[in-house]
Amino acid sequence: MSLALALALALTAPQLRWPRACVSYHLSVEAPQGEVARWAGAVEAAAAAWAVSCGGVAPRRAGWTNSRAVGYDLEGDNINLILWLPHWPHAPEALALTTTTYCEVAAPPRCAAEGQILDADIEINGGRPFAFDAPSLSYDLFSALAHEIGHALGFEHSPRLTSMMHPQISLGAQRTLDTEDIAALCDLYPPEASPCPAPTQGDLWVAEADEGADGCQLQPRAAPPPAWALAWALAWALAWALRIAPRRALRRRF
Ligand SMILES: [Zn+2]
Repeated sequence: MSLALALALALTAPQLRWPRACVSYHLSVEAPQGEVARWAGAVEAAAAAWAVSCGGVAPRRAGWTNSRAVGYDLEGDNINLILWLPHWPHAPEALALTTTTYCEVAAPPRCAAEGQILDADIEINGGRPFAFDAPSLSYDLFSALAHEIGHALGFEHSPRLTSMMHPQISLGAQRTLDTEDIAALCDLYPPEASPCPAPTQGDLWVAEADEGADGCQLQPRAAPPPAWALAWALAWALAWALRIAPRRALRRRF
């Protein structure tokens, strides 16, 4: 994303927020090095990083999936995805990508408030050197997941080097929320009045012919230049009557 486009989005986009601090996700059965249990553990730990004593939200796993249907379908059932993609269809230098669909304006019943998040999907680039324990020659998987979950919860990048939401990470670096991250988190997601219900969707399996994985591998999308991103945003602007819009941020290094 160009800086100008990023600034334009930042100036025009409302603060994004889930209606309640009760967010669930489906996790890809594809995992780093095939280590599904460690993959699930890393995601759980990264999600738990966003639950703090003054509030926050810890997204919970609703089930496993082989779906790669990133984005929001107005007519269909939508789930939030966290995907490990060995075959990365985006810009090769990107470590991860979060696609968030949100309401541009309040338009009940779908959109109770401006900035309400409808869907968020996280993709991790399995072609980059990620590791579970942050050795010096790899990127820390926990940190990348926690950063992307921050986007999925509605947070933008921060210029603070200590922030979980700083857009860059070094090999081997591990991160935690800093005090300003926590303050912003608790401001956006104060403690819930009642406990979140347990996710009930269960696993979701899609027929290979119907999912996007093959299409992505056979027809990889080019790295989206700013014009592509702008055209994509404009396409959604044309769907103004639907009162929703996606936010897609390409992070070159993180
Ligand atoms: Zn980011």
